[in-house]
Amino acid sequence: MTRVVAGDVGTDAAGAADRGADVVAYGRHTGAAVGAFSRRRGFVARPGQVVAEPSADGRAVVLNVGLGPAGSATAATFRAAAAASVRAAGPARSLRLELALADGSGVPAADRARAVAEGAVLGLYRYDEYRSTRAANPLAEVIVATPERRAVAEGLAAAEATCLARDLVNCPAGALTPPAFADRIRELAHASGLDCAVYEGAGLTELGLTGLTAVGRGSAEPPRYVELTYDPPEAGPALTVGLVGKGVTFDSGGLSLKPSGERHAMKADMGGAAAVVAALTALPRLGLPLRVRGHLPLAENMPDGGALRVGDVVRHLDGTTTEITHTDNEGRVVLADVLVRATGPGPHGSDLVVDVATLTSAAVHALGTRTGALFTPDDRLARTLLTASERAGESFCRLPLLAHERRHLRSPVADRVNCSHRFGDTVQAALFLQDFVAAGVPWAHLDIAAPAFNDEGPYAEVPYGGTGFAVRTLIETLRVLSEGSPDVP
Ligand code: MN
Ligand code: MN
Repeated sequence: MTRVVAGDVGTDAAGAADRGADVVAYGRHTGAAVGAFSRRRGFVARPGQVVAEPSADGRAVVLNVGLGPAGSATAATFRAAAAASVRAAGPARSLRLELALADGSGVPAADRARAVAEGAVLGLYRYDEYRSTRAANPLAEVIVATPERRAVAEGLAAAEATCLARDLVNCPAGALTPPAFADRIRELAHASGLDCAVYEGAGLTELGLTGLTAVGRGSAEPPRYVELTYDPPEAGPALTVGLVGKGVTFDSGGLSLKPSGERHAMKADMGGAAAVVAALTALPRLGLPLRVRGHLPLAENMPDGGALRVGDVVRHLDGTTTEITHTDNEGRVVLADVLVRATGPGPHGSDLVVDVATLTSAAVHALGTRTGALFTPDDRLARTLLTASERAGESFCRLPLLAHERRHLRSPVADRVNCSHRFGDTVQAALFLQDFVAAGVPWAHLDIAAPAFNDEGPYAEVPYGGTGFAVRTLIETLRVLSEGSPDVP
């Protein structure tokens, strides 16, 4: 286990800049002076480029890490540079990151420090729970040289939460069934100081979560619903925010079975719930002055004799009905009643609600594999989320709630169908969800079907597999909301 800590700036008593670390990484902008060795190795300070050379006294290894042209560097550049540095540390036991001290970038010092701390933790991540031989990482300590200690603490909280979400997504679906996931959430809540309530069986029927019980019926592993609450220490926070996360622990498609080639990443269909749980566990450390409630419907979508049939009709908590025309569109059915609860009046409702879901594969076609889709009818909430995602280094793109696409939701027997048209499914799924949001409650929907799981090789601070996508955007959104800027709903 590698410790990442904030460290003092400058040289030690003996005048050594490495302060005893085995490896020291320096951020270099284009045109910066580097030693002849790195020049001969072709170092031109390209973002992500890393060249190692011996320090002047030969005691340590120096990493020259590219940051690109001074004016073009962003927090994302520093995050990726830190991730590249920890990957290049080799057999070192200690690594000192001087990256956040690279000035001339235009990125404020606190933002550089936060990004470097995040990049270090995210770059160190590996998932080897199921390997019989685990390669021990020799790196015992990573020191982030900066005077900005609070920014480092915030970066560590956000990055460690992201790694928790990655672990949950990477866990095989057979080990993270709905009951096992609920147990895990209860443990995490206990460890981090959150209130936690778990519902099952008749308790779900009492709450009226009919979509969740309907989808969970085809699995031998029964569904669960978990509500997590963060109450800040100061009494009477002004705002309660609801976060809803889709937690389909494995999505076979149900009776509308997925083709075999499209099932390998379906353990990641709980990526929304993982992001919500992980973001909530970071809140006691961050101490933001708002109340946050996580709503987590957990189910497995499987085809057995009890499974939801094509043509069945589900009556939701708000009294409206959905005809199930495609059992692989289970996510919206599961989320519907939960949105009614989360946006409704009463003690479980919130002033503002964001749902996060690996909802539609069509989102991948629209935006590629690294970007989430954002839907909201509320321009101020859109700005808040986009500002937060920019700060967090996660890519979201706002898509429109096109009213004319509602025509594809019409049913001959019920109030709507859950199967949408071949084209525009991402928009139609968002329109479906919007039906269940109480009037007057600001709401946004994040479709993270594409970026929740990285099928390609690692890049920047993102590993193969579960990415923990949306954790940092949710945390940053809560931070922006707690700052109470005039632009906030
Ligand atoms: Mn599905
Ligand atoms: Mn699904």
